[in-house]
Amino acid sequence: TNQFSQPMSQMANLVNTIQATIASAERVFEVLDEEEMIDEKSNVAPISNSPYKVSFDHVQFGYGDDDEELLMNDFNLNVKEGQMIAIVGPTGAGKSTLINLLERFYDVKGGSIKLDGIDIRDMTREELRSHFSMVLQDTWLFNGTILDNIKYGSEKYGQDEERVAAANKAAHVDDFVHTLPEGYNTILNEEGSNISLGQRQLITIARAFLVDPEVLILDEATSSVDTRTEILIQKAMRKLLKGRTSFVVAHRLSTIRDADNIIVMNEGDVMETGTHDELMAKNGFYADLYNSQFAEKSAI
Ligand code: ADP
Repeated sequence: TNQFSQPMSQMANLVNTIQATIASAERVFEVLDEEEMIDEKSNVAPISNSPYKVSFDHVQFGYGDDDEELLMNDFNLNVKEGQMIAIVGPTGAGKSTLINLLERFYDVKGGSIKLDGIDIRDMTREELRSHFSMVLQDTWLFNGTILDNIKYGSEKYGQDEERVAAANKAAHVDDFVHTLPEGYNTILNEEGSNISLGQRQLITIARAFLVDPEVLILDEATSSVDTRTEILIQKAMRKLLKGRTSFVVAHRLSTIRDADNIIVMNEGDVMETGTHDELMAKNGFYADLYNSQFAEKSAI
């Protein structure tokens, strides 16, 4: 089956951020309404790496030495294989911390985190991270060709030309590279400043398609890019997320609505979980967050 051939449904709205992370400024995107703007015939290899399940069991964690000052006291989360989880919450809620713990930039102080049933402390960091791809905020590019930048980090698949081509197509990198005189041989500056921010993001999406990770970690970018590239990013992301275990620190209402489960965090705790509709019906913390942060800025 070809999981990438599903018709792209409505392209949803972009909203302002509900948090300020590294690139902190709040920016409001316009509603994008597209349908057949871009041809959808991509024949990409199906996912070959089976998605993993992930669990946080009674996790305790704090950044300081003082155990009285824990950020997470008893954090629990079960993510099934292939589920897409959107993480939302105000600034300081612990969204980045959750990702930091998953990637073992820090270790838990109690409880455990398991990847496919294995405690992540029983793996080397290198092994652990080989199962993840991090997308969007990680727009690190080096001084080399676009092609080399896409292959970066994938010794396993970088030599497979068909697979690279399929990843480029799925990520809509083809769409802009064809307009460059040197194509995939275009040399990027250190910071990739000779292509646009949105194009850099498409390259990070292509990397993820190529690596085809068991778990995808996505920190949705908050900076604005041009409308056409934004549409390509959204299309590529939907394909990438489909059927894949993923953690998305979400800033876009479209992503949140697509999620299998939304984790609403506050002060290191899970306040509520459920789908958008379920959480709205509860009329609790999420509904308040949504009404104050999202609703007025977007219109589906
Ligand atoms: P979010 O991503 O939801 O904005 P964070 O996970 O970044 O939240 O932060 C959760 C809490 O942990 C905040 O109070 C923040 O100040 C604190 N924190 C985050 N990173 C560090 C760190 N490296 N050292 C100490 N405290 C931190």
